[in-house]
Amino acid sequence: MKYMEQGEFPVSRYLTAKAAAQKIPVTGTFELTSRCNFNCKMCYIHGMEDMDSLRKGELSVKEWLSIAEEAKKGGLLFLLLTGGEAMIRDDFMELYEALAQMGFRLVINTNGSLVTDEILDLFRRYPPGRINVSMYGASEETYGRLCGVRRRDRVAKAIQDLKALGISVRTTMTITPYNCEDMQAVYEFSRREGTLLEMTSYMFPPVRRDEGMQGENAARFSAAEAGRYMVEKECIALTPEQRHERAVKVTEHVKRMEEILSDPQREKPECGKGIICQAGRSSFWITWDGRMKICGLTSEPEADVRELGFAAAWEATHRAASQIRLPVECSSCARAELCRACAAMCQTETGHYDHRPQYVCDLSASMLEIYRREAERGSEV
Ligand code: SF4
Ligand code: SF4
Repeated sequence: MKYMEQGEFPVSRYLTAKAAAQKIPVTGTFELTSRCNFNCKMCYIHGMEDMDSLRKGELSVKEWLSIAEEAKKGGLLFLLLTGGEAMIRDDFMELYEALAQMGFRLVINTNGSLVTDEILDLFRRYPPGRINVSMYGASEETYGRLCGVRRRDRVAKAIQDLKALGISVRTTMTITPYNCEDMQAVYEFSRREGTLLEMTSYMFPPVRRDEGMQGENAARFSAAEAGRYMVEKECIALTPEQRHERAVKVTEHVKRMEEILSDPQREKPECGKGIICQAGRSSFWITWDGRMKICGLTSEPEADVRELGFAAAWEATHRAASQIRLPVECSSCARAELCRACAAMCQTETGHYDHRPQYVCDLSASMLEIYRREAERGSEV
């Protein structure tokens, strides 16, 4: 959707596409910690247990900077800092400043609750390219219910402070059964404060946090409900006429695709496509304890950066990514554009990159059903 893509620079897209063709790791994520001061029900990484030993297992500032040096030589330009909660680290400011001085375009993911005056001052001196702030609801009650802490007002104030510095802020909302009633209010907050907005009702199974949980996530909607909220999200900024227009367009597109795909002359693919996003092609993710992955949500493949060094870890990651195949069914699916199943969804839902993720299929079927009904019904205005 257009409003989901706000803030992505065409030049970044051009560069990442070029980089993928030349195996250059132009985009990277440093997952600085798995620790967090929140305890969200749907979190894929954070566990409250034994924070001290988690902290001890984290890469040090020195290790991160040495990786960054090597990655820069390899072509890294765009760097996302994430967690857990990145700002929970005592040395966050030291690391951020050093990375900013190295010239990367930095983006930070944060829950927004630990933005202090000192951090604002740091951002004044070294402005990040963007800060993505999770907003989990519109009231302290919702925060308490979903995140276990009542920090909504603190987060809202941080967003306002960051905006006052002229920093680009994207508000991100994961819509769950615990906060879905606040969707409209978060949208209105984002409009009022002039932030970009990203919402999703699809939640990945937390396979990294709890091994063997493929397809499970107690905090997520049924696929049908997730589809319903996905449509609400896609249409949140539309007038009733625009919403109807969208419903007609989606329905017609799927119908056209069904006709094309049912053509008996059409050659059927024997195996699925390779990875379609940049994961492992021009981008990497390094976990808090030094494992390089194609994407932060997946459980494999991974390469040990401490042992191999950045360049060899990237080589191994890129090689593994190039061998991944997505489900063959997705190559001949009329709903593919609506569904947007990615490699991480397949792997976390089924344990295999080339297996069709049933939950994701059901979610997109539910979306299509809603759009079909709305297209038939017509605009209600
Ligand atoms: S704020 Fe993010 S990292 Fe922290 S518990 Fe919630 S989802 Fe996990
Ligand atoms: S996951 Fe299912 S609905 Fe989505 S593209 Fe693949 S086959 Fe189609």
